[in-house]
Amino acid sequence: MTKSISIFGATGSVGQSTLDLVRQHPDQYNIIALTANGNATQLAALAKEFSAQVAIVADDSAYAELKQQLSGTSIEAASGPEALIAAAALGADWTMAAIVGCAGLPPTLEALRCGKTVALANKEALVSAGALMITEARKAGATLLPVDSEHNAIFQALQGGRIDQVRKITLTASGGPFRTWTREQMANVTPEQAVAHPNWDMGAKISVDSATMMNKGLELIEAHHLFPVGLENIEILVHPQSVIHSMVEYRDRSTLAQLGSPDMRIPIANTLAWPDRMITNCEPLNLADIGRLDFELPDESRFPATRIARAAIMADGAKPAMLNAANEVAVAAFLNRAVQFLDITEIVTRLLDSYSPPEPSELADIFAIDKETRVRTEQLVEELKV
Ligand code: NAD
Ligand code: MG
Repeated sequence: MTKSISIFGATGSVGQSTLDLVRQHPDQYNIIALTANGNATQLAALAKEFSAQVAIVADDSAYAELKQQLSGTSIEAASGPEALIAAAALGADWTMAAIVGCAGLPPTLEALRCGKTVALANKEALVSAGALMITEARKAGATLLPVDSEHNAIFQALQGGRIDQVRKITLTASGGPFRTWTREQMANVTPEQAVAHPNWDMGAKISVDSATMMNKGLELIEAHHLFPVGLENIEILVHPQSVIHSMVEYRDRSTLAQLGSPDMRIPIANTLAWPDRMITNCEPLNLADIGRLDFELPDESRFPATRIARAAIMADGAKPAMLNAANEVAVAAFLNRAVQFLDITEIVTRLLDSYSPPEPSELADIFAIDKETRVRTEQLVEELKV
């Protein structure tokens, strides 16, 4: 039996890794929708290779190019945010949510509302609208499978017990490229240095998040929504080799961990084949070669992002959505060389302290908070511009 699948963010790092797994098992999957932001050429090539039913670009200005590239095929071309939602509503058996940023929230939510299986890489959606997403998933009877390597590790370790038997969850963190650097050394890092992650090959935004450790802050919020064990029972441990992807300690003091080479195709494969396991050609883990595994506590004086994120989720209300939007804008400004590396967390802190919108109760509230935060953060960026 083949599984029908859709991939949102098909041209990105996670999207490509997903398609690589499909390439290894072509007879087991049929592709409904593939989406991209604006790269029509790359999307059209993938849509043709995988005989997708529809290909969607989020950016309307890329539509003509997509349409032209798909002419002579039976693949439908579409564009714009509404088309993304419509594609999610087609109800694939399995949907990969791998758009980067809060832009992925509407199609991800729509896919959950179909009540099928959603593999979630798009952590920003969960950070901004976690409660809403979990409620909608429950209501529709959808299955939400975590793709983020740490959360996928926890998901796998939780198959060894029940959530109410958990004493503690340990989220591991590589520490990023500047793990051993002083604040002074970090002051002048370039976007090129920040995106060069020591272990993982990822998109630019998440690579910068890893360098500031905001990625771990976002993941703390993500874990809090996915695994309700109490925020005080989720801790962060720096583990530079990225071999242990996270751990669950049960009340009997047994700790279960998931290990693997740092290759996103491994957690993606877990969600793609779930509840089965698929064969992959990923590198096997060779612990004798690695030799040793190191651990250290996070240093929040050099990397304040995890402290900021913890405070945001404890305050709850509008703060997590504000944190995410401010971080998205600040990271983009850093990548455009408008602000310095250390300004990213500084901007997020200032934004969070600058205003307090009322608690969101529906999706429209989240979008309003997201929009206003972006405008206000752009102003902060202007003030700090280098
Ligand atoms: P990426 O930048 O490589 O790819 C992003 C994808 O989203 C692309 O297909 C792009 O075209 C699309 N996109 C970008 N902006 C869009 C918009 N406004 N509207 C619609 N589509 C848009 O990113 P990535 O590294 O693949 O990360 C994707 C998501 O997965 C992120 O949320 C990230 O945090 C998460 N994640 C990634 C990794 C990784 O190893 N790359 C690991 C864990 C989690
Ligand atoms: Mg991760």
